[in-house]
Amino acid sequence: MPKTNQSKDRNKKTRHKFFLNPYSDCAFTKCPKCDNKTKVRKLPLVIHIEPQQMFILNKQCKYCPYCDLVIAKQKELESLINMAMIQWNPDIIGNKYLVMGTVDRNDWKEGSQDKLSPRDIVNRMYIFKDIWNFEVIPAGWYPADK
Ligand SMILES: [Zn+2]
Repeated sequence: MPKTNQSKDRNKKTRHKFFLNPYSDCAFTKCPKCDNKTKVRKLPLVIHIEPQQMFILNKQCKYCPYCDLVIAKQKELESLINMAMIQWNPDIIGNKYLVMGTVDRNDWKEGSQDKLSPRDIVNRMYIFKDIWNFEVIPAGWYPADK
């Protein structure tokens, strides 16, 4: 097997797919892709807020093990971001943000916010493999089979 010559700084780790759930009335107890039951998982999410704030938010998400899909409620996420930013950097509240990926729980515990520099976060982060979107069809549209 040939060895690949990868620099340590180059982050190519990927993990999970991600769906930011914009529907406050839809909890996705079932996966929107495969229809299996989702689990509840607390995950350290890496969030970038414009212009230049990186931080980690340990948030309860829905997770489908079959699709490897993480689902986070947008409303909950935003209010947690705002709460954190009131203390850290109130100037950027309301700015555009992006959920980029996750870090290992160990890294998050060890770092617990201010110990991890943005560079550390980037180096340890697993970027999402893909971002998915789903449209919710009102329940009434489904044929009532059961
Ligand atoms: Zn699924």
